[in-house]
Amino acid sequence: EAKTTGRDRALFYSMETNQRAVARQTMELQLRRALERNELSLHYQPRLSAQGAQLLGVEALLRWTSPVLGSIPPGEFIPIAEETGMIRAIGSWVLQQACEQWVRWQQLALDTGPGDAVVPHPLARASISVNLSAAQMAAPSLVTDIEALLARTGMPAHRLELEITESQLMENAHAAEQQLAALKALGVQLSIDDFGTGYSSLAYLKRFDIDRLKVDKSFVRDMLANPADMAITSAIIALGHTLGLKIVAEGVEDLATAKVLSALDCEELQGYHFSRPLPAPALEVWALQHAPQAMQGREVAAA
Ligand code: C2E
Ligand code: MG
Ligand code: MG
Ligand code: MG
Repeated sequence: EAKTTGRDRALFYSMETNQRAVARQTMELQLRRALERNELSLHYQPRLSAQGAQLLGVEALLRWTSPVLGSIPPGEFIPIAEETGMIRAIGSWVLQQACEQWVRWQQLALDTGPGDAVVPHPLARASISVNLSAAQMAAPSLVTDIEALLARTGMPAHRLELEITESQLMENAHAAEQQLAALKALGVQLSIDDFGTGYSSLAYLKRFDIDRLKVDKSFVRDMLANPADMAITSAIIALGHTLGLKIVAEGVEDLATAKVLSALDCEELQGYHFSRPLPAPALEVWALQHAPQAMQGREVAAA
């Protein structure tokens, strides 16, 4: 077996680096056409009350299926969209789709049989959450764009929730503070996503008028097996409550975790235990069949 020299290693690494660069270029090229070619779609994941498993809202999550590259997870293509500035067009498409979907859900009524009253679908009472990227937060037109979107679609502001990560807040705290205040003045709900993974202190959060903290799934997923994760999760819940915030746990994968979170007074739960993110028609079926049973040990089949 030939001994690998430093020079061979360097060559090997540069080939690998080159392959990565080509793959990334291909993805960027394909992503540039994804919007106009209709390759993007939204899936929706429900958020439920910990007490009673009421459907409270759904989070819109972007999906990309490329005819060339197959289906690419958002963790891979969103960073590229952010670096290239494409996220502005993609992000406003997401906002528009989500609001239009919410309006369609208002029109879904259930016919409960001959002679019976027509009742609204459970999704008609749900709010809709959209993830915002740093570039969207930095755009001076964000607030007027959202105001115009709400007016155009007829969606009430308090049914729209925007999710911003902790690091986005910290990167440009002064601008973020003003944007969030203006969004709040519109009546939109605000939540901090992936909480616990960044550097902000809860005291610092007092500056921002936010409604919810979403405990990052990396703490929630293994909290029953990992005492440190359990300690972090319960500390976030307790301290978040002192600031008057509602706490959402994301990444709830089993009933035992859901019950412990509920016992810790975490108000809202989201995760595979209840449902994976689903296309709108599948979520409509899920909401009718599973939501009321989800806290009673009935496992919801994965999509
Ligand atoms: P996020 O906003 O924190 O969304 C939650 C992620 O956790 C989603 O991944 C969801 O599928 C996943 N998840 C939910 N429940 C569970 C669970 O029980 N177990 C596990 N292991 N995972 C769970 P997804 O859809 O791959 O999205 C990843 C991230 O991409 C999102 O994290 C968000 O930061 C970003 N993203 C998705 N859609 C958009 C978008 O429209 N705009 C922007 N700017 N970012 C987006
Ligand atoms: Mg989110
Ligand atoms: Mg996020
Ligand atoms: Mg998150």
